[in-house]
Amino acid sequence: MTTLSPLLKQATPVVVDHAVGSWIYGTDGAEYLDFTTGIGVTSTGHCHPRVVAAAQEQCGKIIHAQNTTVMHQPLLELTDKLGEKLPAGLDSVFYANSGSEAVEASVRLARMATGRPNIVVFQGGFHGRTVAAASLTTAGTRFSAGFSPLMAGVHMSAFPYAYRYGWDEDTAIDFALQELDYLLTTRTAPNDTAAFLIEPALGDGGYLPTPPRFLEGLRERATTHGIVLIIDEVQAGVGRTGKFWGHQHSTATPDILITAKGIASGFPISAIAASTELMSKGWPGSQGGTYGGNAVSAAAGVATLAVVDDENLVENSRVRGDELQAGLKEIQSRFPAIGDVRGWGLMQGIEFSTADRTPDAAMAAAVQQETTGHGLLTLTCGPQGNVVRLIPALVVTADEIALGLQRFEAAVAAVSERTLAKA
Ligand code: PMP
Repeated sequence: MTTLSPLLKQATPVVVDHAVGSWIYGTDGAEYLDFTTGIGVTSTGHCHPRVVAAAQEQCGKIIHAQNTTVMHQPLLELTDKLGEKLPAGLDSVFYANSGSEAVEASVRLARMATGRPNIVVFQGGFHGRTVAAASLTTAGTRFSAGFSPLMAGVHMSAFPYAYRYGWDEDTAIDFALQELDYLLTTRTAPNDTAAFLIEPALGDGGYLPTPPRFLEGLRERATTHGIVLIIDEVQAGVGRTGKFWGHQHSTATPDILITAKGIASGFPISAIAASTELMSKGWPGSQGGTYGGNAVSAAAGVATLAVVDDENLVENSRVRGDELQAGLKEIQSRFPAIGDVRGWGLMQGIEFSTADRTPDAAMAAAVQQETTGHGLLTLTCGPQGNVVRLIPALVVTADEIALGLQRFEAAVAAVSERTLAKA
């Protein structure tokens, strides 16, 4: 019998039959409130009728309009609509399929445009699993161990992870900016540095918002030294953090913006956006690919952006996110195993640790497993695996947030009782 690879880890035992909005229905008839959204992908909820209709209609017209052979209407329309959301000046877009591919395209462009070799990444960043993207990922050795040599020219600087250091946020930001300056003095000279690559909020690396002053410090240094600032909005973009783009929590703007995941509600498509001037500095013909900018994905993307606007989903993300965080902080007050609750919008992380902030991965894993039995799907994250992340759909209702909180607390309580009973 042929089976799926044993290296493919599945966070829950659920086999899906169908899904609607914030709900997943198992083949066993069980109902689950989905606070995973396929790792932050199904932004408009599962099978939003307008997204389904757009994809169905496009399937009947043309599915694969290979975009280095022919151009198609959905991609032109998506580019137009995305243009309304992109930061001023980022008026040129290249489409691929996955986040990793878009990350690689951004690095390729930054190196070609500057003629410089090095990329600076920030500790805990996740940028994908293809070899170059994994080389840029510092969210855990499991993403890069065992298949070296990795891509050369990657240097890591500190991320202002205040909770981990046990500092206040300002101290952590000052420290991380000093370390970046030190790196530019000791290891990768500005003239050898093509890009800074950073997420607006660490995703797989622990659901940690990037402090606005830190991002602004990067922007300042990038502008001073002619370094390209690449902001990876793959997980944090499209309303996830309560702003359309995660970097909009700060005044900093990227030279290259990367988007994927939530942009098409589950259909695979990714993109990088830059100014035409920067994009034109890449080598002619250096962007392409068989499946990039697929017509059905693009049509779903157009519908997704329309739904995000028409249903005020960015605002819903902010309001529901505040409710979720307030509820989680209340739960934290009852369970000392929860060391930190943080996040923006519908991107909330719960860090489990002991009293001296030692990461408690076993507790996080047990809670994540336990939530499934309580009808709530969750995921873990963080380099040490001790963070549970909640990623509801942007269409989530106040009642669903309340129910999710109830189920989450029940799971934490059950695991805490079992842990106490064992002690
Ligand atoms: N960048 C970020 C910030 C991500 O969260 C991810 C996926 N979790 C990626 C890049 C890689 O995307 P993909 O899995 O589609 O290659």
